[in-house]
Amino acid sequence: MRFNVAQILKATTGASRRYELDEDISGIDDDLQILSSLIGRVVFTHTLDEILVTGRLSTVLQAACPRCLESYPLDVEIDLEEEFVPSVDIWVGASLPISEQVDPGLVIDEHHVLDLSEVVRQYLVIAQTTCPSCRPDCAGLCSLCGQNLNLGQCSCSEVTLDPRLAVLKELL
Ligand SMILES: [Zn+2]
Ligand SMILES: [Zn+2]
Repeated sequence: MRFNVAQILKATTGASRRYELDEDISGIDDDLQILSSLIGRVVFTHTLDEILVTGRLSTVLQAACPRCLESYPLDVEIDLEEEFVPSVDIWVGASLPISEQVDPGLVIDEHHVLDLSEVVRQYLVIAQTTCPSCRPDCAGLCSLCGQNLNLGQCSCSEVTLDPRLAVLKELL
């Protein structure tokens, strides 16, 4: 997802360019299992001294349900709005100072190449680590035997699930 933005950097402030994406991102991160290509549209806009990238991208990745731990395909929508900063002055070729606060993934390289990969990777990692349960009524795992309760009740009784009731039962 590398784009040469020299033309946009030379254009007047406010100039923009639109790209349609259909990218194979299967190798974007060793810890992510990508199930479909990344598709969508991005718009690069030349702001005062940066390139504003906006757009909406979508893909599907393999997520693990936080309740039952089963893998399931998670649809991810990325609402992109990031400012990329040039590291070289487009007109004179001199290096530009980059603030330490700028994420290295948001720096346009010395060949005026803007790479969306790192930003997209970060969005996907967050989506994976904050994924919702596999379905709204996911029953999760039994806290005693670990059985996936979506597949049926286990034999642990209601009584032993509640330690206060278990104590009462022993007294009987
Ligand atoms: Zn689940
Ligand atoms: Zn159980």
